Parts: sequence; C-alpha cells; structure tokens
Amino acid sequence: MLETHYNTVIIGAGPAGLMAAVEAHNPDHSIVLLEKMHKTGLKLRISGKGRCNITNEEGMQSFLNRFGKKGRFLKYAFSQFFNHDLLKYINDMGVPTKLERGGRYFPQSDRATDIVVAFEEKLASLKIPIVMQAHVTDLRKNEEDQFVLQITHAGRPVQVLADQVCITSGGLSYPATGCTGDGYSMAENFGHTITDTAPSLVPVLTAGDMAKRVQGVSLRNVTLSVWTENKKVTEMFGEMMFTRKGITGPIILTLSETMVSMLDAKQDVRIKIDLKPALDHKKMDQRLLREISEHSKMTFKNMLKTLLPRKMIDLFVDLLNMDPHKQLHQVTGEERKRLRMLLKEFPMQVIGHDSYDHAIVTSGGISLKEINPTTMESKLSKNLFLAGEVIDVNGETGGYNLTSSWSTGFLAGRSMRINKLGIYKHA
Ligand SMILES: Cc1cc2nc3c(=O)[nH]c(=O)nc-3n(C[C@H](O)[C@H](O)[C@H](O)COP(=O)(O)OP(=O)(O)OC[C@H]3O[C@@H](n4cnc5c(N)ncnc54)[C@H](O)[C@@H]3O)c2cc1C
Repeated sequence: MLETHYNTVIIGAGPAGLMAAVEAHNPDHSIVLLEKMHKTGLKLRISGKGRCNITNEEGMQSFLNRFGKKGRFLKYAFSQFFNHDLLKYINDMGVPTKLERGGRYFPQSDRATDIVVAFEEKLASLKIPIVMQAHVTDLRKNEEDQFVLQITHAGRPVQVLADQVCITSGGLSYPATGCTGDGYSMAENFGHTITDTAPSLVPVLTAGDMAKRVQGVSLRNVTLSVWTENKKVTEMFGEMMFTRKGITGPIILTLSETMVSMLDAKQDVRIKIDLKPALDHKKMDQRLLREISEHSKMTFKNMLKTLLPRKMIDLFVDLLNMDPHKQLHQVTGEERKRLRMLLKEFPMQVIGHDSYDHAIVTSGGISLKEINPTTMESKLSKNLFLAGEVIDVNGETGGYNLTSSWSTGFLAGRSMRINKLGIYKHA
C-alpha cells in the first residue's frame, strides 16, 4: 500500500536505490522505495553472469581513470565510500566475498541474488517499505515546492507527495530489467540536461562472415587496435571473443564506447588484432623462418596449428589463399610475409554495434555539471537527488559500474538522511 505523503521517496530499486534507501534511514522521516518491476534489482541479479562482480581491488586513482574524464566527478563519493567500505558493508550484511583474477570481487556463493536479498532484509529491519509494481510516470513540484509523483501502482493511478526525492532509475541498457530511461524525462522536468546517450560496453558487429566462421573462439593476450582512415585511434591488450555477428569480450566492451561514437560520427571503423603481441614484426618473421627451417617437411596447415586456435586455421588458409598441404620448404618469402601480416594485423571492419538490449551500461545521462558531487543533490532543484547509472557516468568492466552506483547511492542516501526538510512533516 502507498501512503499519500512521504518525507523521502526513492525511485528505482537497483543497487543505487537500495543503497540510498538504507542510508537515508532516519527515524524521523517516512521513507519509501518504489520499484516498477515485480522484483527488486533485476539487473543486479543478472550482473556478472549471475555472480555479480561487486567491485575491484584497484587503488583510487586508477579506479577513477576507468571512468575517463568523468571519473573526477566520483572522487568525493569514493572518498566517502569506496571498494573496501563496500566489501565490509556487504560482508556485514551477511554476504561473504572473494577476490578473483583482475582484482574483481564476487560473493563467495557466486550468487548475485544473495546481495539483493541482503539489502531487502536490511530495509525490512529498518522498516523501510519497498513498493513493487509502482511505476513512477511523472515527477514535478507543486506551488508549495513539494514533489508530486504520478504512479501507476499495480495498474492503478496514484498520486504521492514527497519532501525529497532520489532518482535511481538507471539508464537504457537491458530494458527487460526495467531500465527504460524514465529518469531522464523526470530530471528534464526540473531543467536538467541529458547528455547524448548510447549503448556502452556493447559487442560490435563486423563485416562479412569472418566472425561467424570462428564463432566461440576466445583469444587471450592479444592487442586490438582501432583505426580510422589509416590512423590508429586507440589500442588495448587483453581478452576477446568472436560471436556469430562480430566480436565481444573485455577489451571489445571497453573499447566499444570509442567505436560506437566513431560509428555515430559516420567514421570508417577498422580494427587490427595482433595475435602475437609479444613478438614484433622482426621477431615474428624470425620465428616463422625457424619453424620453416626446423620442420621443412611439415605441411603449412600443421604449422598453423602451432600458431593459432584450431578453429581459426581454415579461415587463415582461405584468407592467405594457400594450399594447406604445401610443405614448409615450399613456402615463399611473399607467403611468409602475408602470414606474418595476418598474425600481427588481423583486420576486421566494424559496421555496427548491438542495441541497448545487449549493452552492459548506458553512456551519457543527467549532466554532471548540474549535480553537486558532495551531496548528489541537483543544483537546479532543491531536495532532488540523483544517483547511479541515470547520471552521466559509466566505466569499464571489472566491478567499476556497480561501485559507482553504490557509492553515489550511499552519498545521496546520507545527504537525504541529514537533510532539513522544512515545513513538511509526515502527518
Ligand atoms: C548483463 C549485465 C551484467 C552486468 N554486470 C556487472 C558487473 O558484474 N559488475 C558491474 O560493476 N556492473 C555490471 N553491470 C552494470 C550494472 O549492473 C549497472 O551499472 C547497475 O545495475 C546500475 O545500477 P542503478 O541502480 O543505477 O540502476 P539499475 O540497476 O538499472 O536499476 C534501476 C531500477 O529502477 C527501476 N525503475 C526504472 N524506472 C522506474 C520508474 N519509472 N519507476 C519505478 N522504478 C523504476 C528499474 O526497474 C530498476 O530496478 C552489468 C549490467 C548488465 C546489463
């Protein structure tokens, strides 16, 4: 059941909203957390393939760098509540955590749902209700400077008044989890600017059937560079994977923001995959020469087996247009050069990207210039707070995005807890 008035209303029960609701707890305030779906934290439950990469071990400065230039905005929030504070918080709620490769933390149980349930229990213990199937369709202020929320609750229209509101309704990615960008229009009602939004941490699509032919192949320790018109834009070392329509995996997702903005700007986007980054061109050639002289009777195809994942061999043979049964002593210098180039600069053309349905996060959102980074309060409307992915921050994969949602949610919650709410007392 919904009351007609609350001191504090939080819109959206994802990680930012759950945290903000707990931290807003003040025995003198009536508080409610509204969630439009039938369950809380649907996206959190599927995060990290259902395991939830909670945060990362990295130190403050390099952590902030994972958000690009916008990382600066998070500095204060992280100074108040950072990775180890978060881990202690989650541990104290009864969810032990573990550290894995790449500094990534997960629940020991490998179950993201444990975290959601722990937040629900914490809120229940604080007597803060979560109202499910409460879809906020409009948010404005009345003449008395009170917030007026129009809500569709279990199919019926309801109006609720509030003294302070926090929007934690997320971005646009994975809309099936309830994130359809509703917070943007709510913020616009108060004069907020929404910077251009785009799917980020998203697989990209490549031309032709090359990806499809090697679908499922995962490449570790490769360097991928992004090019436009013979100019290198950026590069990254790590892991990637071929899909039916293109490429994905950690380095692709991280570079996707750059590639998506290039595509949006109608630039030609090409990538080169260096399959042997430990060897420069000269050393690569020496390695091939050694193979050829030491195994002169070996077939070309068998040599490729020593250099490539099995599933890529036929593709290489076709791209090189060579007889796979040719013995190594018959391989010409020109053919050796073409093989070296393909190993060092495997080319693909990027022709598009997956939609929000497959994007881990949304880039863009409520402009950071209009939010106070020390409170998460709107600079344009008093008592309006904004936290989580709805604001214009997004980071790389590795637990960075959840940390940002939890830290900004924490700060918004604490600010609301101590906020002097003026004349409006709960009846
Ligand atoms: C598949 C996937 C895996 C991911 N894995 C990781 C990971 O392992 N580590 C990591 O750091 N990040 C991960 N992320 C990113 C991370 O989950 C998000 O950045 C984070 O959930 C954002 O938190 P949030 O609270 O801001 O918003 P959300 O989690 O998007 O929650 C917003 C909530 O608001 C509700 N809502 C929206 N509009 C309304 C409305 N009008 N009225 C009421 N309620 C509303 C939504 O239903 C939703 O429950 C992953 C994302 C995806 C899609």
